[in-house]
Amino acid sequence: MNWTDVAGQDRAVRILRSALVRDQAHHAYLLAGPAGVGKELLARVFALAANCEAEPPEARPCGVCSHCKAIARGNFPDVMWLMPQAEMVARGLISRADLEAAPSKEIRVDEVRALAKRLSFAALRGRRKVAIVTPAEAINERAQNTLLKTLEEPPPATTFLLLSANPDALLPTIRSRCARVQLGPVPEEVDPEHRPFLEAAERALAAADERDALDVAEQHGERDDALRAALVFQAWTRDLLAAQSGGQLEHRELQALAAEIGQRVRPVALLGQAQVCSEVIEALEQNGNGRLQLERLFLRTRELRNG
Ligand SMILES: [Zn+2]
Repeated sequence: MNWTDVAGQDRAVRILRSALVRDQAHHAYLLAGPAGVGKELLARVFALAANCEAEPPEARPCGVCSHCKAIARGNFPDVMWLMPQAEMVARGLISRADLEAAPSKEIRVDEVRALAKRLSFAALRGRRKVAIVTPAEAINERAQNTLLKTLEEPPPATTFLLLSANPDALLPTIRSRCARVQLGPVPEEVDPEHRPFLEAAERALAAADERDALDVAEQHGERDDALRAALVFQAWTRDLLAAQSGGQLEHRELQALAAEIGQRVRPVALLGQAQVCSEVIEALEQNGNGRLQLERLFLRTRELRNG
């Protein structure tokens, strides 16, 4: 099992792999994408590479060291899985007969607490504790609030991987604490023809007053155009986050601009920007007003970056 096994998700692989090679993994990633796209495989390879003993880091996972073998067997104390009981029964990890009640389809607060407790201890064998939550949208709301406390004060050398086909079902506060890694066939490529739009948007975001931002919103105010613009800006936001965590951009012609923005904008502002993108896209998909939604996108992004 290796990075190359995660077919068709080069971009997601690159982000996670380079974060580990540089020893700069975030404390939480949201692996978002439709069912069957490779989220779980990617999470497994991440857990292997994060704890593999091979040198140099580029050689991880090697698949043959004792850590790799133990993780592949599901027998490594620093790689933890959290899933609903019903899912564990379906996978044969627990027996239906062991449960007093019908297996829960939700991840519950006591289960999140137990995970948080295990994570509060130092890694037992590995370098990095990896907690894989699947599907993350199964965490019920109360348990999400419990998880949020752990994400706000993450234990050292720990990475959460939240896997979700429906990330909008998660609390915005959870999403904003995670670096989002998008998998799957989504319109996320920064097409060369989008370059003038992104350059104009970035100029407007850096301008002294709001007028330029309002102008850009008006130019793309027709709803379908606004939705395309928001999707392109969302992909760009992912590129900015990738650049900041040492990943590579899909399109090198914007590398210099991304590097410059990555240096002056804080990661938390970019995560907030990603969140605003999601909200605006959702509103536009539900027939929101194009110009108003783009104004919201740009004005909120300006606030986040200047705040
Ligand atoms: Zn290994």
